[in-house]
Order: sequence, then structure tokens, then C-alpha cells
Amino acid sequence: MFDLIVSGGTAVMPAATEIADIGVADGKIAVIGAPGSLAAIGAARVVDAAGQIVIPGGIDPHIHCGMPIVGGPSNEALFSAGPDQVSRAALYGGTTTLLDFALCLPEEPLQQSIQHRLSEFHGSCYCDYGFHLMLRGTQTPALLGALPEAVQAGHATVKIFTTDIRPLNQGRMVKFGDIWEVLKIMAKVGGMATIHSEDNDIVMHMYEKLIREDRTGFEHLAEVHNTLSEDLSFNRVIRLAETIEGAALYMVHVSAASGAAAIAAARRRGFPIYGETLHQYLLYNAEDYKRPGGQMYHTYPSLKFTEDQEALWAATRHGAIQAIATDEVCCPLKVKLQGSRIDDTTGGNSGVEPRVALMYTHMVTKRGYSLADFVGLVSANAAKIMGLYPQKGALSVGSDADIVLLDPRRSRIIRKEDLHETDYTPWEGHEVSAWPSMTILRGKIAVDGANFLAAPNDGQFLPRKIPDSIRSRPAV
Ligand SMILES: [Zn+2]
Repeated sequence: MFDLIVSGGTAVMPAATEIADIGVADGKIAVIGAPGSLAAIGAARVVDAAGQIVIPGGIDPHIHCGMPIVGGPSNEALFSAGPDQVSRAALYGGTTTLLDFALCLPEEPLQQSIQHRLSEFHGSCYCDYGFHLMLRGTQTPALLGALPEAVQAGHATVKIFTTDIRPLNQGRMVKFGDIWEVLKIMAKVGGMATIHSEDNDIVMHMYEKLIREDRTGFEHLAEVHNTLSEDLSFNRVIRLAETIEGAALYMVHVSAASGAAAIAAARRRGFPIYGETLHQYLLYNAEDYKRPGGQMYHTYPSLKFTEDQEALWAATRHGAIQAIATDEVCCPLKVKLQGSRIDDTTGGNSGVEPRVALMYTHMVTKRGYSLADFVGLVSANAAKIMGLYPQKGALSVGSDADIVLLDPRRSRIIRKEDLHETDYTPWEGHEVSAWPSMTILRGKIAVDGANFLAAPNDGQFLPRKIPDSIRSRPAV
């Protein structure tokens, strides 16, 4: 007797995509069998998935819940939506795992920073979650000394900024020498660095230049956070990491052809590096800044150009891009639009809910990707790279029963009223060719059609360990 059987859907499994029955017991996938083969065993609930695509729960490896948003003329400190709001929307959209960030302040003991972040999610997150350790500013010997223990405790990745992003100094940038030290530590203890990589000199130079020229409207952001900056910075940080035995990199939100090319070149040399892009970069470009409320489409680094979009799409097929994230910073429209200058426009975006459906539409329906490749890009690859596989990201016996039913009969036009994120969506009016009809988290039905059945303490913290195979060569 199973707790649940998902019956007769087209199951996208690691080795094959075929119609199957999935039997769930104790939160795990217990059996995968031929259609109808599990009926005799029975289950507390049988879900008929005929005509639907059954995939492992989506994984968004890059979100920011409850993050301070500084922007707009007032520079008033506000916070992005918390894990409750974001994880609820994630589950509605077929995402069951979120990787957020634990901000590690140099002046605070690392354990304290991590505990603080854990307490913000504990009991407030409807889906599973883990943290990258976000380093900022000058790294103290105490913090560097505490990193190995934190990696061992399952916080297997650090996040590093090579830039302050905006002229208003928020202390984000980690100096190159400190990056060198952090990479050496992570290499030694089996962790990985995730990098927000832009050339700070070029970015700050362009802010000064455009302000001098009185071209301060946000529609010029692609000139500030430009493709040359991505080229120089990616190559610089990759070159640094390549000198360190055991180092591995994950480049967050790759936005330009130059960034994808730098990753591809390093992979050809055998260096273990992985690339993430955002649905925002794949589907919008700098021309969209000119639309009404064009800040809505912005995230840092900036939107780029059609040739960059084409290169990013190509990279999802040819190995430089492994994962599609959102860089979610969920906030009301008023906050998203509060700044309109190159130096005060609110970053991040609201997109965790439609991510899986949008990518299905643009990958499978429009571009002919295989279902397996689509699942790789929205779930399995992130699980592998981030040390969650095959617990997450796989419809396999023994895996967590995180299962999503994508229903092609639920094709629709995205409307903010139908979503559960905030009072706007940058995806308003986009057509999607399927929508999740059911999301299951560790065997429990979290979303059943319009019904939300999850509880705020359903989400569990996920300790992660990056496998040696991921860190020794470009394995995904
Ligand atoms: Zn981010």
C-alpha cells in the first residue's frame, strides 16, 4: 500500500521519458512501474496523470527572500517578500526547492549569521530550502577560519560579488585578494564559489561617465553593466580559480554572450565551471527598458541585447549554461518602479511562479528541446551542481517524492491576478503552453489545482555536499 500513486503520466526520468506509474511511500519515490502496474497494491490516493507531463519538482538555485531593497530617490530601506510568500508562489508554479542566501557579516560570528537565516526560514517556508553563504566586503581571518565548518554543516557554496553593483557603496564587493583566499579555502574543504561577476572599475567608470553626460535614465543600464565588463570579470575570476587546485565555480546570472563564451572556453580546458542564467535574460533585452514601467524587466547586471539572448539560448544547448534561475526579489510594483535612474533602479525580479511553465513553453514547445533537457535546466542540473542529487531533481526510486504534474491543457496567458507572488508580474500577457496542475513535496500534495494544501512548516532545510565529480571537471 502506497501513500500516493501518480498514475499514467509521461514521466521524465533520468534515463528515459515514458508513461509510468509512480508509487510514493514515506515521502520518497518507492517504485516506478509500467502504467497500471501499481493499481493492485493500492494507495491512500491515486492521482490520474494521463495526458500530463510528470517532472521532478523545480529547483530555483538563486532567490532572495527578505532581502533589504535600497533604491528610489529616498533610499528608504525596504525588504523583499519573505520565504512564506515566495515559497507559496514557488509551489504553485511547480518549484519545490529554493536556494537563498545567508548574509555573512564580517563583524559577526559566521555561525550566528547562519543561525539567524535558518531561524527566518524555519516554520516560514512551504517548500524545501538551502543557503549559499553570502560574503560581503573585507573578509576577516575569523570569518575565513569559520568557513570550513560551515561547508561541512551543509552550506556548501559561498556567494561572492566582484563589484559593488551601484555607486552607492553598500559594501558588496569582495576584493580580489580576499576572493583568492576564499577560493583556496573552498577548494580545500570541498565547497564551491558562486560569483556575481562584473568588472567594478568598468561599471563605476560608466556610472561616472553617464552621470557626467546627463544620461541617467535607467534605459541606459546596459551601457553601465555592459558586455565588456562581463567579459573582463568572468575571465579574470576564472583565470584566478584555474590556478587553484580543486577550485570550482558557478557563475550566477550570466547575462551576456561574452560571459557564456568565457565559461565555454574554461570548460573546454576542463575546468569545473557552471553557468546560470535567468528567464529574464533569455526573454527580455535592453529594448524592453523603453516600455511603460520598463524597470519591471530590470535586474542586475542589466538586460542586454538580442545577440546576447541568442548566445544564452545556444549556451543552454551547448553546455555553458546549466541552470535557469530567477534572482527573485519579490516586491510590490511601487517598489520595483520607485527608482528610475541608472543608479537607483530596484534589481531582482518577481518570477518564481511562472519560471517552470515559461521555460517549458520556450524550450519544449517553441524550440523543440527534449523534456529531459528542459528538466535538466529547471531542476536536475541545479540539483547535481549544488549537491542535492539524486535526493532532489530526479524521478528515481529513493529520491524525495517532489513531483510536479505539468498540464498542457492548462495553457494560458499569464495574468498577475492568477499568480501568488505580488501585485505585478513582468510576465503579464505571456502565453504559456502548460501550467502545473499539482505540486507534491516529499509525498505530500502541496498544490492541487487552485487549492493550496501546504503548511508553513512543511519546508525543510537541505544540507548540501558538492560531489567530487562536480568539482573535478565540467560534469554537467
Ligand atoms: Zn541575486
